Amino acid sequence: MPTPTPALRNAMSIDVEDYFQVSAFAPYIRREDWNGLECRVERNVDAILALLAEQQVKATFFTLGWIAERYPQVVKAIVAGGHELASHGYGHERASDLSPAAFLQDIASAKKLLEDLGGVPVVGYRAPSFSIGKGNLWAFDVLRDAGYRYSSSVYPIAHDHYGMPDSPRFAYPVREGLLEIPVTTLRMGSRNLPSSGGGYFRLLPYALSRWMIRRVNEVDGEPAVFYFHPWEIDPDQPRVAGIDAKTRFRHYVNIARTQGRIVRLLGDFRWGRMDDIFLGREASPRVPAPSLSPA
Ligand SMILES: [Zn+2]
Repeated sequence: MPTPTPALRNAMSIDVEDYFQVSAFAPYIRREDWNGLECRVERNVDAILALLAEQQVKATFFTLGWIAERYPQVVKAIVAGGHELASHGYGHERASDLSPAAFLQDIASAKKLLEDLGGVPVVGYRAPSFSIGKGNLWAFDVLRDAGYRYSSSVYPIAHDHYGMPDSPRFAYPVREGLLEIPVTTLRMGSRNLPSSGGGYFRLLPYALSRWMIRRVNEVDGEPAVFYFHPWEIDPDQPRVAGIDAKTRFRHYVNIARTQGRIVRLLGDFRWGRMDDIFLGREASPRVPAPSLSPA
């Protein structure tokens, strides 16, 4: 029987962007129109900060530069709450759509904006739509050169929009001075199942999500990395019209239930910031460095 490891702390993370910036909506909402759309991110981040404060949980907020520029008070509230301020890039463009020079511009400008507004160092980055994979491993060199210390950008699953199913499931040094910290999957047979947030968390029964995280803690002996978005706790967000059925399902499925599930999740496990867990005293990358050299 596996020995329970109740003391293990998991990492809670929030990707701070608004509902209209989701990559799956890109074919339907022009970037130039973002400024004219109703923004919900400020109230939603406030609600998340209140939920975290109630349960005395500190988390990591991967924040878009675009949001920080328009809502500096959101950045300040995240820092004031004792949470880690991290970067989701500037304009939510997939790393895989950018040249190395454009990627550098995106991640360096977001880092500077966030650091200037928040008054704290920003060392963590998550690529929009987990868009670092086999085709753009150069992005790790750019991240390290721009001063980031960790990335949470490779999803070790097979998915139609992202993923690199054969990459390591747990934190590992991907370059000297740079850790890659994937969001959590559960190994079942020869497949990795997503078990750490996003649409899957809204789709699956809560008890199954909880079971998967427990398995990772108890069987793998590793902290889980969970993520969600401010718009996922907002059932009253404006509905985007004219989208295809798959996109509509993925975005809106069980959206009215998500806040309640997040509250349960916060109570059912111990949680902390990414930097505390993976760069601090609890850091224990047990997986040897894989040979992930640029293709
Ligand atoms: Zn995003």
